[in-house]
Amino acid sequence: MPRVAKGYIEQLPSGSFRVSVYVGTDPITRRQIRLKATAKTEQQARIELGRLLKEASEGRTPESDATVAKLLDEYAAIAEWDVSTRQTNEGFIRRTIKPALGHLEVRKVRGPILDQLYARLKRCGDLSCTGRPFTEHRNVPALVVNPRDRRPAWRQVTEMLTEAIQSGSLAPGDELLSITELSALQGIGTGVIRHALDALAADGLILFRRGQTAIVAGTPAGMISGVRKRPGPGHDCRRAGCKPHVCRPMKASTIRGIHSILSGAFAAAQRWEWTERNPTRSAKPPTPTRRPIPATSPDDVAKVITEARSRGAALGLYLWLVVVTGVRRGELCGLQICDVDLDRGLVHVAFNYVVRGGQRIRKDTKTHQDRWLAIDPDTCALIATYLDEIRAELAVVGVELRDDAYLFSNDPAHSRPWNPDWATHKVAEAAAAAEVKLDIKGGRHYTASQLLAGGFDLRNTAARLGHSGGGATTLRHYADPVPEVDRGAAAYLAKLTARSATQTG
Ligand SMILES: [Zn+2]
Ligand SMILES: [Zn+2]
Repeated sequence: MPRVAKGYIEQLPSGSFRVSVYVGTDPITRRQIRLKATAKTEQQARIELGRLLKEASEGRTPESDATVAKLLDEYAAIAEWDVSTRQTNEGFIRRTIKPALGHLEVRKVRGPILDQLYARLKRCGDLSCTGRPFTEHRNVPALVVNPRDRRPAWRQVTEMLTEAIQSGSLAPGDELLSITELSALQGIGTGVIRHALDALAADGLILFRRGQTAIVAGTPAGMISGVRKRPGPGHDCRRAGCKPHVCRPMKASTIRGIHSILSGAFAAAQRWEWTERNPTRSAKPPTPTRRPIPATSPDDVAKVITEARSRGAALGLYLWLVVVTGVRRGELCGLQICDVDLDRGLVHVAFNYVVRGGQRIRKDTKTHQDRWLAIDPDTCALIATYLDEIRAELAVVGVELRDDAYLFSNDPAHSRPWNPDWATHKVAEAAAAAEVKLDIKGGRHYTASQLLAGGFDLRNTAARLGHSGGGATTLRHYADPVPEVDRGAAAYLAKLTARSATQTG
């Protein structure tokens, strides 16, 4: 049935005119769907009315001029992403896709626009970069410690940075640089800076990206591509560590990630009849070049574990468990006392602890990758000693370690788990001190490659790392919920890593 569009013009109290054309009724809300426009004069209003009536007869609906930003909002709300994928994808949407494409109409996006974006990102991931030189300003205030102030230096630094964050001069996502860089630029000892940053991190005001660079926590406000932040008055480029911009090409795999978000979003737009074509079909993201990353050697891993142990029993045990269990960093942070069965030599990985935009999420892996892992007698002994020490400390103040307490925690009763970013940061510090290139992901990589090199089959290795829901989980109903081969894997990894670690540790 052909649609008959009805329209009218009405004058607003301000004197201008509103033009409205009815195009249908929303089947769910029963609300009228209208195309709208405003005009200054009655004559312009008549022209607008004619235009809208013509568009209505051609089947235009209000949604059809929705922007890419609106599409992404609606798509992200319904996309079936797990917690960590959602975190990554929403970051791409906020930092890259919306600033670059958010203002465009969905209908008007074509393949070449996407290809241009991909080419630009391949040259430099900074959307405000035009290829011409510019200075990257950082809004870190001058940190001047007053020796006559009775408060300790770290407290003064903490307060200066807190003030800058709360006043908004340091915005969410702003970089504070690493402890050593900040210390050198501001002429303040690393110990003071470390203490101050740890206090800010504990308050949730900052977090450590890749375990090194401190950045202001929170969701950065969406910016429009090409807009660069200007430094405030009294800004000192030298002390703040402002640097000339150096182009950082975005990795091909990252650009592919952005492409796949766009593919999903435009496929949804097509299903919703917002647009007739999917521009991602004709766009081509760059092909990633895969370079195999060599796994860290047992000796090097042992060096980092020894260093971690010297920094604290908890950190030492955490890293040890990373390599002998191959468990993800958040899964290890989510481990509770009741998940560890020292009598049977088992660890139950039930949760992935994720901190997303300052919010703590205990993601239930039960439906996903809930699994049991074997731990060898040596590891059991390490955990037992560790727990005994915590229990002894708590006994002094008459507190018992609860069953739902977390294995790794910075609070006395172990009621709040470590923030995974914090764990990454601490492991990075230990690795840097041991002069070994290793992070938590590298630890898992070590687990996998050493097991495979040791003759363990892929299926069991994958199960241990939580890559498959098959084998390992079905066995949990038996007396020993882990297969014999996983017992072997646990013992093998412990022996291999311990050979060097126990010599010094
Ligand atoms: Zn500057
Ligand atoms: Zn650049």
